[in-house]
Amino acid sequence: MPTSRPDRAFAVFGGTFDPIHKAHLACAQYVLAHCAVSEVQLMPCHLPAHRASPGVSAEHRAAMVQLAIEHVPGLSLQPLELNKHSPSYTVDSLRLLREQHPRGGLLFVMGMDSLAYFKQWHQWQSILQLAHLVVCQRPGSTAADGDCPELLEQYGTRALQDLHLLDSGKIMLLDNPPLELSATEIRALLGKNQQSAELSQLIPAEVLQYIKTERLYSNV
Ligand code: ATP
Repeated sequence: MPTSRPDRAFAVFGGTFDPIHKAHLACAQYVLAHCAVSEVQLMPCHLPAHRASPGVSAEHRAAMVQLAIEHVPGLSLQPLELNKHSPSYTVDSLRLLREQHPRGGLLFVMGMDSLAYFKQWHQWQSILQLAHLVVCQRPGSTAADGDCPELLEQYGTRALQDLHLLDSGKIMLLDNPPLELSATEIRALLGKNQQSAELSQLIPAEVLQYIKTERLYSNV
């Protein structure tokens, strides 16, 4: 369970995690190492608001997140959205987190592809009133895409201290090494051949074992 202190900045990384993969983990660890936060909480959605429903239940996706982070200090599972039976809106989750942590920096982590359509997110302005956005580089997406230029012009900062002096409202691009990896590609590979040696490069061993034991993604 999350253990962050209310006065110390912490980060939340929302996603479908269908399944969690090594690029998700690399992003979370990069934020932990470079953004001076006490903790990065991975928050699997129940039903994503911005894309088709995942093929695997929230319980399985959360179990895989838990297995992936079990031995990684500073990463935790944020279960807030798991029991919802309606689409998960990030703004609602951030409001709840803000009730628990009224002060201090709250960083919401996303990939550059997500920032590119951020203005389509439900109540996106309210999201920025509740949290900062920290944005990971992702191959195939650049800061010139979609909503990025306008958002960065208005809210962008390069100063880490802004994320700590202010509680919310800034967007910072990170310099993480980009990793060409997507859950879509992994699901396709799992559907074809769960014995493929390539899979161990893409997802943690514990997660791969869970997928095999629970027979997930075999009919993708
Ligand atoms: P899918 O292929 O099913 O769309 P995904 O790999 O994009 O999945 P999600 O769970 O949808 O994974 O993503 C959660 C968050 O992680 C999003 O903000 C997304 O931009 C980010 N993310 C996913 N993969 C990467 C990556 N390789 N590099 C940087 N960010 C990533």
